Amino acid sequence: MPDPSDLPVTLGDIRAAARTIAGLADATPMVPSPFMSDRIGHPFWMKLEIGQPTGAFKLRGATNAIRALGDVPGVVCCSTGNHGRAVAYAAGEVGLRAVICMSELVPAAKVERIRAMGAEVVIEGRSQDEAQLAANRLVRDEGLIDIPPFDHPDVIAGQGTIGLEMLDARPEIDTVIIPLSGGGLAAGVAVAAKAIKPGIRLIGVTMENGAAMDASLKAGKPVDVTEVASLADSLGGGIGLTNRYTFPICRDLLDEVVLVTEGEILTGMQTLYYEDALVAEGACAVAHAALLAGKITVTGPTATIITGRNLDMQTFTRLMAGEDVALGDTTLKGQTYGA
Ligand SMILES: *Cc1c(COP(=O)(O)O)cnc(C)c1O
Repeated sequence: MPDPSDLPVTLGDIRAAARTIAGLADATPMVPSPFMSDRIGHPFWMKLEIGQPTGAFKLRGATNAIRALGDVPGVVCCSTGNHGRAVAYAAGEVGLRAVICMSELVPAAKVERIRAMGAEVVIEGRSQDEAQLAANRLVRDEGLIDIPPFDHPDVIAGQGTIGLEMLDARPEIDTVIIPLSGGGLAAGVAVAAKAIKPGIRLIGVTMENGAAMDASLKAGKPVDVTEVASLADSLGGGIGLTNRYTFPICRDLLDEVVLVTEGEILTGMQTLYYEDALVAEGACAVAHAALLAGKITVTGPTATIITGRNLDMQTFTRLMAGEDVALGDTTLKGQTYGA
């Protein structure tokens, strides 16, 4: 492990973030899973970030980054998912203008949800890349600050507060299994956890198809991957070819990265629902998925983060009922839980 003081985010930054976000995006519960504990032979804990006001952990990073800004004309981002909601909500909390840029292809319901949080919506182009051009223009012409979804020290420090809270609540945890996409969550939790407990084992888990961080770690530098539809849609997207922070931190601090299939994610989601009584996105089910598939073996108390619950409920109920669902251009075969 490298000298932690060489990393771009430190335990001190994360403790400062904890003070910054206190009362706004902190103190989610940590609950046991008797079913998973029984299956792995060790206590298993779940940090319930689905209890955040926006339904996902990204509110921590967005709140920390926005509160660090001081006097600016406003913020902008081009995420339609959990990060967009987080920026809209966090800016609203501090009375700052927020503009969320999205493409014409974004469903009306998603647009309305963001507007309802008090943010302005700019619709431009037919892809995320084209929507980003609108965001870039607002930065240049109106002085808005772009809040990135993961590759920013304040965002990483905000997500890292999850690691602080987990080890505060359960210092005996010796393995943390972290859903992994751009790596803001994994990097933040890793900096906190390895600083507090250097021997802790940290495993990032993501879907097999389109795993940008995994491909980048294998290549030794940030690389692009083709994006493929997944049940874990919040784990899609690249890490950015100019990635500065999350790639080196994940490279230096994660002990392992494990990949799961769509079928394994479905089993994980059904287990979370039928055994743990949790409605959660596919992204949250990757720890359950990897453990139940035998892809991770643990040797002591283990925890994961149930990262978000912003789902299409029609699709979710069909998945739980074992029906086939469309996934991009393909059909995901349904499976009956416990059959
Ligand atoms: C963003 C997100 C993740 C992944 O976080 P990264 O910081 O991009 O690795 C996991 N789960 C949910 C629900 C998310 O919204």
